[in-house]
Amino acid sequence: MKILVLNTGSSSVKYRLFDGTDTEAKGLIERIGEPGGDASDHTEALQRVMESVDLNGLGAVGHRVVHGGSKFGSATVIDDEVVQSVEDLVPLAPLHNPPALSGIAVARKLLPEVPQVAVFDTAFHQSIPADGVAYAIDADLASRWQIRRYGFHGTSHAYVARETAALLGRPVEDTKVITLHLGNGASACAVDGSRSVATSMGMSPLAGLVMGTRSGDLDPTVIFHLHRVAGLSLDEIEHSLTRNAGLQGLTGDNDMRTIQRRRDEGDEAATLAFDVYCRRLKEYVGTYLAVLGGADAITFTAGVGENVPAVRAAALDGLAGLGIVVDPDRNARGERIISAEGSAVTVCVVATDEEAEIARQVEARLSPEPAKQ
Ligand code: AMP
Repeated sequence: MKILVLNTGSSSVKYRLFDGTDTEAKGLIERIGEPGGDASDHTEALQRVMESVDLNGLGAVGHRVVHGGSKFGSATVIDDEVVQSVEDLVPLAPLHNPPALSGIAVARKLLPEVPQVAVFDTAFHQSIPADGVAYAIDADLASRWQIRRYGFHGTSHAYVARETAALLGRPVEDTKVITLHLGNGASACAVDGSRSVATSMGMSPLAGLVMGTRSGDLDPTVIFHLHRVAGLSLDEIEHSLTRNAGLQGLTGDNDMRTIQRRRDEGDEAATLAFDVYCRRLKEYVGTYLAVLGGADAITFTAGVGENVPAVRAAALDGLAGLGIVVDPDRNARGERIISAEGSAVTVCVVATDEEAEIARQVEARLSPEPAKQ
């Protein structure tokens, strides 16, 4: 099936046209609405996409949507009701759902005959049991304000877990994997038989691992203290924890390449940031080994996970007692399997491909019989 995958962000549209598993075209419209940008608004940006690709025989459009709340556990054919539900979820994802909604509205208008399917970042994590998503806070407040863990990067974790099982030559239903998506945003996931059973991001993508510019886990008292004692407003605190924390907060740089270079030069802040980043990863690996009762594999993916041997080595250093041994040469060469012979847990490096996973889910949703909503 020919499928156009759209990832519409606040100022960009990323697109990729698939014919089966082949990529026919791809591109990026950037700096939408900015002076000198590629398009003045989302309508113009989407029009550009449609003009630049051959839409003959297009079977579907797949839209990446960040937040599907508690409602969407799988890829969903878009109708007015689904659009309304994604709109209702805007308070939970104020930065991410509105641009996706623009993308959906324009694509539906320009291609009214073509089925449009939403693939949610949160959907894969809907299988996490209740004890893994509930926060231990006032239950009435939580239920009234939809406060719970949702988790994100689900499309990537689903893809990488399946690829890992294939790499191991095992049926995915019978494979336990810890997936570590380490990009500018980062999250860990425990996958048991292709079902997510735990993940590190929470109600928002701010929780969990140390990221490029986000803090990951911290004591909520930090927020009260910054407000009451340091006098920062809630908006300033949010900005600080999401844009000026993580590697950026610790060093002034958010890119792991720069951190590595500075660390090599003996820079103390970069060394500490690297250590904090890797220690947090190790803590999550330990937690998820316990959640899963042992894992068959641990898989690194995304910008840092795929490209930085030092992070992979440090995150799993000293875990021989848990059956995890990384082979330094395989790791340095960036092989797909980097664990040593005899390591009980196989350690893998897999390139993630969220667009391919979206296309796969769209196709699965629409075949062999038309989707019912
Ligand atoms: P992603 O969000 O998956 O595109 O990952 C982006 C992040 O990956 C960047 O901010 C860098 O920190 C990191 N990254 C990408 N490529 C490399 C590389 N070759 N070496 C070190 N870090 C990299």
